Amino acid sequence: MVRDQIERRGITDTRLLDVLRAVPRHLFVPTAQQQWAYSDGALRIEAGQTISQPYIVALMTDALGLQGHERVLEVGTGSGYQAAVLAQLCTQVYSIERHAALSLAAGKTLTALGIENIHLHIGDGTLGLPQYASFDAIVVTAAAPKVPPALLDQLADGGKLVIPVGARYQQVLELWQRQGEQRKSHRISAVAFVPLIGEQGWKT
Ligand code: SAH
Repeated sequence: MVRDQIERRGITDTRLLDVLRAVPRHLFVPTAQQQWAYSDGALRIEAGQTISQPYIVALMTDALGLQGHERVLEVGTGSGYQAAVLAQLCTQVYSIERHAALSLAAGKTLTALGIENIHLHIGDGTLGLPQYASFDAIVVTAAAPKVPPALLDQLADGGKLVIPVGARYQQVLELWQRQGEQRKSHRISAVAFVPLIGEQGWKT
């Protein structure tokens, strides 16, 4: 998976590549899907949601340029796989999910793997987690019609936010960076994510 799908597409950060080799992705997908856990695509999880394609997890994580000292917010816990990857690359991960059943299942998987620096929350992640802000990095793993202002507000100075933004079934992955009161963005890639549903996302 790492050699053919991720290194070949240009990801070179050896810390990230090592983590992607180490995290057992098959434990994050339903039993019936486990045979495809390392294949080059997104997979269905519970509640009509998906675990992103491995390359997209790598691309989003790479964009954050984590050094190891960061506190990171993830919006859309899903299976917990992206959180498990982030947890090896920074100090603390806060991950919020709107479906309680998904969050509980992710919690079991992460506990079984002995990962202790992920804090799971259930709720509307379009509002972020103001009580734990600010964050050095924020990764949104569901697609928004526009960037939720609450998330930009919770970014630390110099912090980075990666988020798919656009129409319901097709979006552009954007990287935002905060410098003082300025916020700059650039486009990374065309993507297709499930919708971010909430007060500062899609309404349904
Ligand atoms: N990062 C996940 C992929 C999750 S798919 C993984 O590695 O498996 C996107 C997730 O975002 C879904 O589980 C969906 O329920 C969740 N989601 C959508 N809108 C949300 C919101 N407003 N707050 C929190 N989670 C949300």
